[in-house]
Amino acid sequence: ERATLGLLRDAPAVTLDGIAIRLEANIELPEEATTALAAGADGIGLFRSEFLFMGRSDLPGEDEQYQAYASVVRIMAGRPVTIRTLDIGSDKTLDGEVTVATNPALGLRAIRYCLANPELFATQLRALLRASSHGPVRILIPMISHMHEVYATRQAIAAARAELDARGQAYSGNIALGAMVEIPAIAIAIDPFVENLDFLSIGTNDLIQYTLAIDRGDNDVASLYDPMHPAVLRLIAHTINAGERTGKPVAVCGEMAGDARVTRMLLGLGLKEFSMHPQQLLDVKKEVRLAHTNALRVKVASALNRAERIDLADLDS
Ligand code: PEP
Ligand code: MG
Repeated sequence: ERATLGLLRDAPAVTLDGIAIRLEANIELPEEATTALAAGADGIGLFRSEFLFMGRSDLPGEDEQYQAYASVVRIMAGRPVTIRTLDIGSDKTLDGEVTVATNPALGLRAIRYCLANPELFATQLRALLRASSHGPVRILIPMISHMHEVYATRQAIAAARAELDARGQAYSGNIALGAMVEIPAIAIAIDPFVENLDFLSIGTNDLIQYTLAIDRGDNDVASLYDPMHPAVLRLIAHTINAGERTGKPVAVCGEMAGDARVTRMLLGLGLKEFSMHPQQLLDVKKEVRLAHTNALRVKVASALNRAERIDLADLDS
């Protein structure tokens, strides 16, 4: 058993019809990068940086953040490390923070919170930039809904660079900037986002929540939380197609990416980058290596056009 898993870990994630798939890992704490690497991850597709900020009474300073980000970059040894800027608010709150938002899931969270707290954002951006001097870092912005948030983030990054220049501190001049696609509005009106960013990562956990108006943490409506809803699949397809049209990489980093039961569906939607919990990597890789992407794409496209709920069993060959 262990030997088979070891073989699978070192085997390439390539479909039967020769399509290479990137399988990356989601992590919450820097030390999990070791597990990700051991599981054969091609990179870190999502480092949820908010976990550095949670469960403590103070904020992590620039040096502490820099050490954390740089350690992940070093462990991953040249593989890309995608670090998401602070995604605080809603289900994840800072200690001592008094939130009185009427509806936290629709309130001042994630990039909205960061742009409203420029000092805190600048500190994180400087730490991220400094970590990029040790290997490839990609910056991922959560909860983007408007283009002006992308422009404001670019300005904040430019200001952080200027500050590091003034201090004489090193960073890479070549850091990719991407956004989470987790608010339906940007999946629907994707063009300016895909054109102005270097990559996209679909956060299906929130995308499903906001598309179907189902609180992802509310058990009473959990049975309505349906990743296979045609509206959700169409938003994912639309985003992947925009990436193909512009040559920009598109990943899925929500829970769907690590669910081996829906791997064939995602391949059929054209997905080539998956990011998931390290423990799920081998099960997904197994599915990838047994799939015929082109046959799946034809099946999924025709089912989406008929707008019916796709039965996963129909995708079995
Ligand atoms: C998502 O929304 O799908 C996602 C990956 O981010 P989080 O679960 O941290 O909100
Ligand atoms: Mg999310």
